[in-house]
Amino acid sequence: MTPIYDRVALIGLGLIAGSMSLAMRRAGLAGEIVGTARSADTRAVAAEIGLVDRVTDTVAEAVTDADLVVLCVPVGAMGDVAAEMAPHLKPGATVTDVGSVKAAVIAAVGPHLPEGVHFIPAHPLAGTEHSGPRSGFAELFDNRWTLLVPVENTDPEALARLRDLWERIGANTEVMDADHHDLVLAVTSHTPHLIAYTMVGVADDLRRVTDSEVIKYSAAGFRDFTRIAASDPTMWRDVFLTNKDATLEILGRFTEELFALQRAIRKGDGQHLFDYFTRTRAIRRGIIEAGQDTSAPDFGRGVKVK
Ligand code: NAP
Repeated sequence: MTPIYDRVALIGLGLIAGSMSLAMRRAGLAGEIVGTARSADTRAVAAEIGLVDRVTDTVAEAVTDADLVVLCVPVGAMGDVAAEMAPHLKPGATVTDVGSVKAAVIAAVGPHLPEGVHFIPAHPLAGTEHSGPRSGFAELFDNRWTLLVPVENTDPEALARLRDLWERIGANTEVMDADHHDLVLAVTSHTPHLIAYTMVGVADDLRRVTDSEVIKYSAAGFRDFTRIAASDPTMWRDVFLTNKDATLEILGRFTEELFALQRAIRKGDGQHLFDYFTRTRAIRRGIIEAGQDTSAPDFGRGVKVK
């Protein structure tokens, strides 16, 4: 199979970069995959497990002669990394990223990039609560969405090439503008994570009262929250600091709805609760019909944890 890019540089070697490397290899999409990470430990692990073809000590070395550079670091670190790599980029190269927030990344990275380099931000809507160089797997993006967020005057050919890469990695793709992306993700990912963090935090406070009953009798609802709330603290801190407006907007609406449900419980308004839960159940069906989750009970876990 002919590679789409002769050389791809991955900056950051965690869950997303590792999964991209393995998926690109699976489909023969890159002539060579070069990678680097901030810490010597991560670079050593990546080299040891052969996560990429070549690990470099510096960002400058990694991006030299790369046709595609993918920024796979936390959103808050993107600007500094862009400044460091900018003087070493090959003319005509494409720079993309995988950050969970788009407007802030465009503002932080865009100004550093020289003329003649194509900047096409992107966001794969796939992840797990694991992080680091050992957490990646080739199937992560299969049948999931990757949103491409081109900036003004994006070269259509460079965009088509990046889109081809993501589709051959296994993802479905869609083009979206940055503000819309940030609002959609505030609803579908960012606010739900905040709610999960809060619920687990509340339970943790309670645990001190009930002496570990929360852990011992952890049922599906709480357990599912804990999985989400185990996500990387750096990544999620940066998400909320950089997608502030959209998250606050959705949190405002969430609080209003929560008050309405609280009132229904207090007043014994069973009809309100029943109607509400009927509506939300239909959303779960829609996600399953769209092929974005399994219809198996308990997410297909199979084995019941006692
Ligand atoms: P990860 O597994 O924690 O890996 C992050 C990588 O970035 C590591 O190699 C780390 O280097 C490096 N890094 C951390 N802080 C840095 C800094 N200040 N300067 C330079 N490098 C730094 O993270 P990930 O899950 O792959 O996430 C990477 C990006 O993908 C984030 O922007 C995130 O928003 C986005 N994303 C994540 C998910 C998800 O569910 N995880 C999904 C979609 C998109 P060291 O290991 O040396 O510390």
